[in-house]
Amino acid sequence: MNLKIRNSIQKTDATFIDNQFAMALDSVSIDSRSLQNGSQTLFFALTGANTDAHIYIEELIEVGVHNFVVTHIPSACKSQANFYVVKDTLLALQEFAAHYRSLFNFPVIGITGSNGKTIVKEWLNFLLSPDFNVIRSPKSYNSQIGVPLSVIAINEQHNLGIFEAGISVSAEMKNLERIIKPTLGVLTNIGSAHDEGFVSLEEKVKEKISLFQTAETVIYQIDAEIKSFNLSNSKAFTWSFINKNAAVFITKKMIVDFTILSIQYKEKYFEVKIPFQDQASVENAISCLMVLLYFKYDQLTIQNRMQLLFPVEMRLKVKNGINNCSIIDDSYSSDFQSLKIALDFLESQKQSENKTVIVSDIFQSGLTKDELYSKVSDLITSNKISRVIGIGETISEYKHKFDNCTTYLNTAEFIADYENLDFNNESILVKGARSFEFEEIVQLLEEKTHETVLEINLNAISYNLNFFKAKLKPNVKIMVMVKAFGYGNGGFEIAKLLEHHKVDYLGVAFADEGISLKNSGIQLPIMVLNPENTSFSAIIQHQLEPEIYSLKGLRAFLKIAAQKDLDHFPIHIKIDTGMHRLGFEANTIDELIATLKGNKTIQVKSILSHMATSDDVLHLNFANSQIALFEELSSKLSRELNIKPIRHLMNTSGITNFPNAQYDMVRLGIGLYGVSNDSEEQKKLQNVGTLKSIISQIRTIPEGDSVGYGRKFMAKEITKVATIPIGYADGISRGWGNELGYVMIKNKKAKILGSVCMDMLMVETTEIDCKEGDAVIIFGQAPTVNEIAKSLGTIPYEVLTSISQRVKRVFYRD
Ligand SMILES: *Cc1c(COP(=O)(O)O)cnc(C)c1O
Repeated sequence: MNLKIRNSIQKTDATFIDNQFAMALDSVSIDSRSLQNGSQTLFFALTGANTDAHIYIEELIEVGVHNFVVTHIPSACKSQANFYVVKDTLLALQEFAAHYRSLFNFPVIGITGSNGKTIVKEWLNFLLSPDFNVIRSPKSYNSQIGVPLSVIAINEQHNLGIFEAGISVSAEMKNLERIIKPTLGVLTNIGSAHDEGFVSLEEKVKEKISLFQTAETVIYQIDAEIKSFNLSNSKAFTWSFINKNAAVFITKKMIVDFTILSIQYKEKYFEVKIPFQDQASVENAISCLMVLLYFKYDQLTIQNRMQLLFPVEMRLKVKNGINNCSIIDDSYSSDFQSLKIALDFLESQKQSENKTVIVSDIFQSGLTKDELYSKVSDLITSNKISRVIGIGETISEYKHKFDNCTTYLNTAEFIADYENLDFNNESILVKGARSFEFEEIVQLLEEKTHETVLEINLNAISYNLNFFKAKLKPNVKIMVMVKAFGYGNGGFEIAKLLEHHKVDYLGVAFADEGISLKNSGIQLPIMVLNPENTSFSAIIQHQLEPEIYSLKGLRAFLKIAAQKDLDHFPIHIKIDTGMHRLGFEANTIDELIATLKGNKTIQVKSILSHMATSDDVLHLNFANSQIALFEELSSKLSRELNIKPIRHLMNTSGITNFPNAQYDMVRLGIGLYGVSNDSEEQKKLQNVGTLKSIISQIRTIPEGDSVGYGRKFMAKEITKVATIPIGYADGISRGWGNELGYVMIKNKKAKILGSVCMDMLMVETTEIDCKEGDAVIIFGQAPTVNEIAKSLGTIPYEVLTSISQRVKRVFYRD
């Protein structure tokens, strides 16, 4: 790998600044947080709309990285490392990957389509890995960044590649094509996903199949829409349910939980059983079957392997565990590449110093067992894992390679010994091949709560943060409000992510919120909006920064500051410019100045005020008067105290609506969580929280029967009713009941029947094909929090923050 990396980076169009550091490279990284970064890492400093990894170079040099691909060399780092200077670091990463790919010569399957890519990739990996050393894209790494990173993980031992390519707008595919260079193409369901990026369905199909320009063969379903392929060099290998001209003609029938596919191919006729019935899974399974036929597998092997296909969970999730543990659940695959990714995720989400890894035997590496477990051991060591629990016969043989390691021959042995393992206050990664059934371990470790969860998409939070950062004038800082558990979305996990993104400040409402963030290791400065006088000592002890809004509060704080002999302790002065909530009024400013003047125990870090109407153009005059008063009073304070504090006034809506009053900092709140007060802006944000539950019970009631307390719903005809375990104690307003509100089941609206109960509600499912245990969405993409708020005559802030703490939060990255 070493020489090939060097060779490939030298082929990119870069100016090399050689500062005589060793170039023994063995990996490529774009993530500054990875503990695997070190002297052998080549780091690409990617830049995005408003992200810039150049800010991490200094700290990376400190941990020993000294080869970087950059657009410019940060001044502090000049002769501290080797630099490849390029115009565009992403383009350089892609060129690099394309060259690296060209150094290998084995079959590569390229998968694209609108739906099902990741599932088909994972299933193919499962079906083919008994016979090949497979390298595949991890998770759903199918983007302009994910594809090059996937390809760069190829090494000499691999002899089959499976990579997926996803595009959202025209003209992206040709980049991915030169990086993947598939020899066999698979086109999955073409659907309507991402249609907005394309002029027409035809254009979309054309763009997608450009991935297969030089592929020898392309597999796809012929149907009306995509019959007119122009597959220049390659030959089609088609299937169909209706068209007998397809190379493979298939009919299907359903029995119990299975589907039986009757396959007709080259005079041969045989049946294959798969454990799914929904159309998407059946089509995806057929794509896989076509690949097996292409590789000339015999009937029996195809039948044996296809019946073992399984549902795929692609997301890495963090869950609350027993005894103050947190659990990262990656319980369905165990290959070296995905172990690396999971360890990075563990580091970025760890909530305690102690990190534990529960890992099964590792498959599909192409290395000898001895080499493989040495590599795994190095990886675990570099990630500072405190204890390792290995499960499986092979890993048990290599126990000696790990520090503080316990092993078990199988999952049942682990479970029998579970009580003795004493899990507490640790972050635990559960990572195992599917056959080990680690979901049983996750069940043991998970905090027991009900089926209702609020899933938080961490990628969407990063996206929304960058969206608002892009609206800031140069040098404007950003404080993110994480009060009320991050508007109900989660405190620590979100703060940790914001720390990575180097926001300037966090804001909380009360001292205890800040204390719990500091106690779990957050180092960003934290402003406390409403510090009660009784909490001043705790604030000082935990290095929180109080907002001071009255003379009474100021005097109390100064008294404690003098007692504790503080030196320039940071405080924030809030002035009231018209909101009339908290703040010094204009007529107290002189006394404020007199009290502060010459006092060296404190330092006025910032001056702020809060807008009452930043979201409403109807009150433009009032808003402008607030801005004018802020300008006047904050200038006076700065002048007379001879200080240069950070001045800040605007919340989310103000960032957009009053760009000229962003001052030195803005305070971003609701927008981070994916909600905007402006309908155009709303379309550009990504949804963060999805509140989910399941169906507990279904029944059919006759005309004239009623549902729920007070018989508020009377059936006018035979009605199918489903009960969902979520109620007003979880934060679902009673106002949302009685057929005003609805939930989504199988992508269809199910109206709430009758009153919402404390822990449950009932919905109508007469027209929905659903069963007990099926998933239910209470809010997310649809209905949106905004929509619910509107119907209830309230604001999205209230809907979000009402979700009670008994609803379990689960954080994930795509
Ligand atoms: C909550 C809050 C914000 C954030 O408001 P959003 O509308 O959620 O952006 C900003 N400043 C203060 C003082 C707040 O209390």
